[in-house]
Amino acid sequence: MVAQTIPVDPFDLVILGGTGDLARRKILPGLFRRMCAGQLPPEARIIGASRSGLSTDEFREFVRKAIGEFVKDSRCESEGVERFLSLLEYEQLDIFADDGWKRLKKHLRKDVISAFYFSVGPGLFGEIARKLTKHKLTNDNSRIVVEKPFGRDLSSAEALNKELTSCFEEHQIYRIDHYLGKETVQNLMAIRFGNALFEPLWNAQHVDHVQITVAEDLGVDGRGAYYNKSGAMRDMVQNHLMQLLCLTAMEPPAKYGADAVRDEKLKIIRALEPVPPSDYVRGQYSGEGAGDSYLDHAQDPDSRTESYIAMRVNIANWRWAGTPFYLRTGKRLRARMSEIAVVFKDPPHSIFEGDFNRKGNALIIRLQPDEGITLRVTIKDPGPGGMRLTEVPLDMTFSEALGDQFAFLPDAYERLIMDVIRGNQTLFMRGDEVEAAWRWVDPIIKGWQESGKQPLPYDPSSSGPDDALMLLHRDGRRWREIKS
Ligand code: NAP
Repeated sequence: MVAQTIPVDPFDLVILGGTGDLARRKILPGLFRRMCAGQLPPEARIIGASRSGLSTDEFREFVRKAIGEFVKDSRCESEGVERFLSLLEYEQLDIFADDGWKRLKKHLRKDVISAFYFSVGPGLFGEIARKLTKHKLTNDNSRIVVEKPFGRDLSSAEALNKELTSCFEEHQIYRIDHYLGKETVQNLMAIRFGNALFEPLWNAQHVDHVQITVAEDLGVDGRGAYYNKSGAMRDMVQNHLMQLLCLTAMEPPAKYGADAVRDEKLKIIRALEPVPPSDYVRGQYSGEGAGDSYLDHAQDPDSRTESYIAMRVNIANWRWAGTPFYLRTGKRLRARMSEIAVVFKDPPHSIFEGDFNRKGNALIIRLQPDEGITLRVTIKDPGPGGMRLTEVPLDMTFSEALGDQFAFLPDAYERLIMDVIRGNQTLFMRGDEVEAAWRWVDPIIKGWQESGKQPLPYDPSSSGPDDALMLLHRDGRRWREIKS
C-alpha cells in the first residue's frame, strides 16, 4: 500500500539557477514527482531564474525535457506534466544587477510561504542574500535553501554564516546535505531510537568498530577543475560522512526535533579527536596509459588532490572511547556502494568446539544500491554432521519488503524541499554544526599540505590504495568488501 501524502501549504519557490544542472536533474523533476504524489497544492508556484534570456514557455519546454529524461514514475501521466508546467514561471535575472530582482518581486505573493533555493555556484550565496534583503523580497515566513559546498574551510564557512545571518534568522536558513534526506539515513534513527533491541548494545562495550563507506565507481571526469580545488576530504568527509558518523554515534535526543537532533550531532563533532597522519591514507586513481587517471581530468599535472581517503576516527566520549570509526570514500572505485556497518564484539566465551570463519555480528545499513538493512547473525550450519556454525544475513531490502511503497518513496531532494516548505529543519545542518566540522577538518588538511606528500596511487576499479587496508589490518580488523 502506498502511504497517503498530505499536501503542503501554498508556496512560491524561486530556484535561483533554475536552468542549471542541479535544477534540471534533481530539483524540478523532484517537484514534479511530489505533484504526482499529491503533495503540491494547486496554488504552488515555481519560479526559475537565471541569466539566460528564456521566456516562460521556453523554460517550460526545458523542464518538460528534464522530466522526460529524469522521471520514471508510473503515477505521472502526460496530463500531469501539463499541470506541472502550468505552475512554472521564469524570470531573467543576473544576481549582481538590480533590475532582475525588481522584476522577480512581481512574481511573488505576500500571503504564501516563499522559499529561495540558491542553486548557483557558492561564490554567489552571499550576494543573493544581500540582494533579497535589499529589494525586500522576503518576510519572516521566507526560507532560503543553500547548496553545498558550505565554505572550503573554517574561515570561509564562518564568513558565509555571517553574511547569511546578517540577512536571515537561523530558523530561515536551510543548509542542504542531501545525504540527510535519504530514506535509510532516517531509518538509522528509527532503528536506533524506535527499538529497544539495539540501543543497549550501541556503545564501546559491545561495538567493536564502525565502518562508514561511500564508494563511487565514476571518476571526476567533467568535474575535474572543480573537484581539484576540493578533494575527497572537503567534498565528502566534511559533510556527508560526517553526518552519517553523527547519526550513528549521537546520544538519543530528547525528541525528534530540529534543535534536539542537531544539538546531539554537534556534541559528537566536538568530541572527535584530531587525526594524526598515521591514521589516514590519501589516494589518487591512476590508470597509467589507459587514459583513466585522475590527472587526466584535473587540469593540473602536479595535482596533490586526493580522490580517495580512508581514516580512523576516535570519538572521545563515554559511549565510544576505545571503539574506532573507520571512514573511507573515493572515486573510480570497484563499485558504487554506500553503507554504515556497525560490527559487534564476539561473545565472551564460545561453548562450541572448533572454529569457523567468524566475521562477527554486524548491523549493516545500506544507503546505495539496494537500500536496506542487514543483520549478520551466527546460526547452526544446516544439515547433519554435528554442531557447525555459520553466519547468515537477516536481510531487509526495502524494495522487497516495502514493494510499491518503496518505488514511490521520495528521493532525498524531494523530501528535503518539502521539509523546507513545511518549515522542518531537522534534516538540515545548523551553522554551528558546519563550523564545528570544518574546525575538525582544517588541521588535518593543513597537516598534509605542510607535508607536501603526494597521495598514493591506486588502480581504477580497485578498492583504493593498499595502505588503506593496513589501517585496519594493524588493528586486527578488515574492511568490508566494496561490491555492488
Ligand atoms: P550549473 O549547472 O553551473 O548551474 C548554475 C546556474 O546558475 C545556472 O542556471 C546559471 O544560469 C545560473 N547562474 C550562474 N551565474 C549567475 C548569475 N550571475 N546570475 C544568475 N544566475 C546565474 O551548477 P549546478 O551543477 O546546477 O550547481 C548549482 C549548485 O548546486 C552549486 O552550488 C553546486 O555546488 C551545488 N550542487 C550541485 C550538484 C549537481 O549534481 N549538479 C550536486 C550537489 C551540489 P545562467 O548561466 O543562465 O545564468
